Amino acid sequence: MAAIELRGLTKVYPGGVTALDALDLVVPDGEFFALLGPSGCGKTTLLRTIAGLEAATGGAVVIGGRDVTGVQPGERDVAMVFQDYALFPHMDVADNIAYPLRIKKVPKGARRGKAAEVGARLGLDGLMDRRPGQLSGGQQQRVALARVMATQAQAFLFDEPLSNLDARLRLEARTFLKKLQRELGVTTVFVTHDQAEALAMADRMAVMEAGHIRQIGTPAEVFQRPANTFVAAFIGSTPMNLLDATVRGDTLEVAGCKVPVPASAEGRLQDGERLVYGVRPEYMAYSDGPADAALAGKVAIVENLGASYLVTLDVGDVAVQAVVPEGREPAVGSDGHAVPRRDRALVYRDG
Ligand code: ADP
Ligand code: MG
Repeated sequence: MAAIELRGLTKVYPGGVTALDALDLVVPDGEFFALLGPSGCGKTTLLRTIAGLEAATGGAVVIGGRDVTGVQPGERDVAMVFQDYALFPHMDVADNIAYPLRIKKVPKGARRGKAAEVGARLGLDGLMDRRPGQLSGGQQQRVALARVMATQAQAFLFDEPLSNLDARLRLEARTFLKKLQRELGVTTVFVTHDQAEALAMADRMAVMEAGHIRQIGTPAEVFQRPANTFVAAFIGSTPMNLLDATVRGDTLEVAGCKVPVPASAEGRLQDGERLVYGVRPEYMAYSDGPADAALAGKVAIVENLGASYLVTLDVGDVAVQAVVPEGREPAVGSDGHAVPRRDRALVYRDG
């Protein structure tokens, strides 16, 4: 087991793309760390550079206190699971699982024993002599996991390992993988572009954009206090309301309405200052009748979220969204008021 530490890690590809721009990151021993960001932000490059499959242009990778920046991938003691699992089609499940041990010249009997043990743990007992082509997507995914577990590496690196599974299997695999990581206690960096996956699985997480880390924190910190409008817009199953606002004394003017200055911004704002007011739809109360300190408008869209509804209000020419419990959803075209929670509202100056 080992901590992973990145110091000023930079990767510039030959074409001139800066995929990693002087990243600093410490993942403590045993942590489940999720790396979240849109396609092309540098997630795969980061994992490949930790694994040694890409050479860093600058900075250092330190694993378990050892600087491995110039060290070959095979000698870094990390195991990586790729998005497409990278199983060998001509080998059966047992040989696929045991493959890294063969590379390490572990004798055949011991290899077989370890493959059987790990396979059983992942519910693959009955499938050990099948080939990958004879397995479902979920089973292939478990073979890829088993192969990583068989290596007993100091750290696991996962590159969007659940993205090829259908929605239901994906949820099962998420719980399963999280539980497994907890039992094994192996330091894990888990890459995903799915914010729900990162929030659900991570002990801590980072949000990346264009080769930079924009925020690091626990899922609760990142969800409740996004550091900037990029993170705010990226996190959450319904996007945060990000509304232009002007400071007027102890209120904010938003879309022609007045709302109180958020608790988190009290004493930090200047009269007349223009900024972005952020409130999650989940932190908007909704009222049919008149309401104080509310954003008043007309109901434009009502979307079913299952146990609740997402209501879009037209407030002047600004769209404002609120989550409303089932049974309280308004009719399209009616008058409505979205009442932001002052203790959950935020302001941004980077909009
Ligand atoms: P992600 O995994 O977040 O989608 P990548 O790490 O794959 O992002 O890519 C980051 C950036 O680096 C992108 O702009 C991508 O086009 C570029 N890139 C990735 N691999 C290479 C490569 N081998 N050569 C040149 N540019 C690359
Ligand atoms: Mg990728």
